[in-house]
Amino acid sequence: MKVLVINSGSSSLKYQLYDMTNESVLAKGLVERIGMDSSILTHKPTGGETITEVSEILEHNTAIRKVLDKLVHKEQGVLKSVTEIEAVGHRVVHGGEYFKESMIVDRVAKEKIRELIDLAPLHNPAAMMGINATEANMPGVAQVVVVDTAFHQTMPEKAYLYAIPRVLYNKYKVRRYGAHGTSHQYVSRIAAEFLKKPIKDLKIITCHIGNGGSLTAILNGISVDTSMGMTPLEGLMMGTRSGDLDPAIVPYVMNKEDLTVNEVNSMLNKHSGLLAISGISSDMREITDGRAAGDPNCTLAFDMYEYRLRKYIGAYAAAMNGVDVIVFTAGIGENSIIVREAVCENLTYLGVELDKSLNAIRNDDPRRISSSNSKVEVLVIPTNEELVIARDTYRLISGTQA
Ligand code: ADP
Repeated sequence: MKVLVINSGSSSLKYQLYDMTNESVLAKGLVERIGMDSSILTHKPTGGETITEVSEILEHNTAIRKVLDKLVHKEQGVLKSVTEIEAVGHRVVHGGEYFKESMIVDRVAKEKIRELIDLAPLHNPAAMMGINATEANMPGVAQVVVVDTAFHQTMPEKAYLYAIPRVLYNKYKVRRYGAHGTSHQYVSRIAAEFLKKPIKDLKIITCHIGNGGSLTAILNGISVDTSMGMTPLEGLMMGTRSGDLDPAIVPYVMNKEDLTVNEVNSMLNKHSGLLAISGISSDMREITDGRAAGDPNCTLAFDMYEYRLRKYIGAYAAAMNGVDVIVFTAGIGENSIIVREAVCENLTYLGVELDKSLNAIRNDDPRRISSSNSKVEVLVIPTNEELVIARDTYRLISGTQA
């Protein structure tokens, strides 16, 4: 079965086409700047050359049509006909309390995603556009949604409620939902396989740190706490997001600077984090380069980032009364030797002992970076959210066909 995985953003659409007989990627690509002038389509058939085309793509419908055209293109394509694609899997950012696992797209699922636009105003409309555009271009094809919040639906009340009037939860479902659930779940499963231990016997802290970042405490295989909250703003310091802050700062700054709700939202989501403190970039590579060159602002940005990350690891070890495994994943977690080293050097009280030479190895395989004496296994596990989406889609669709 061939499965197309779609990650639809408000002005972008990423795709990967899988052949599920061997879970190989046949082609992948990205449409950027949808709705703006000079939209860019980048298409890469596996083993072939990357093709980049600039044109005007006004909405997601056209974006999917162009992607399908590429997939069946005589030279650049990998399919004879679009009908070879038997199912499409979509990433959905916010599933509220409804989506506890991946689901086949039907009328109810669509209604729920639409209802949840209130909680994810930037992301869920984009997912809906992707679903509708798929329906328009591939009528009748089965669709599945894989939801980023679903894995965290196991959090207990004491972890997901905010200490604010209960009426806000009852009326508006104001609570913590988390994010990156697909990735946290995937890397925790791979960690248990790698260690050859049943996941139900492990206390795992997964650190998904990329542009956005979150940590999850996984006890006996289920998420018991995670650092993102009602929205992806809570928790760690991130590329452009503030992470945790005193909520009283918001009205204070709005008042002093005469800011609107949108302006303060934008300040905390787009102009904070590494970018605000370094003054130069939200990209960890530039921060570590700046730090190496002696830039004091980059050094401070790095130190704050590492300090806050380490405090969360301590918090989750406390939440689970211990930790057996710490997993690093996503752009920074998989690649930044220096962030991992700085974090682990200060976790000796937990029994963490880093093996610096193992930490310096770069490859794409799951690997151990702790020494043989370490009381906690520290692993680097490349995440693969697209593969999880393809697998869930395949599982649910073949289930209905069996
Ligand atoms: P997203 O959250 O958008 O999916 P990624 O998981 O791709 O992002 O992570 C992007 C982050 O990973 C950036 O901050 C980037 O600097 C960082 N990163 C990528 N490669 C490296 C590297 N070799 N060293 C340090 N940081 C890296």
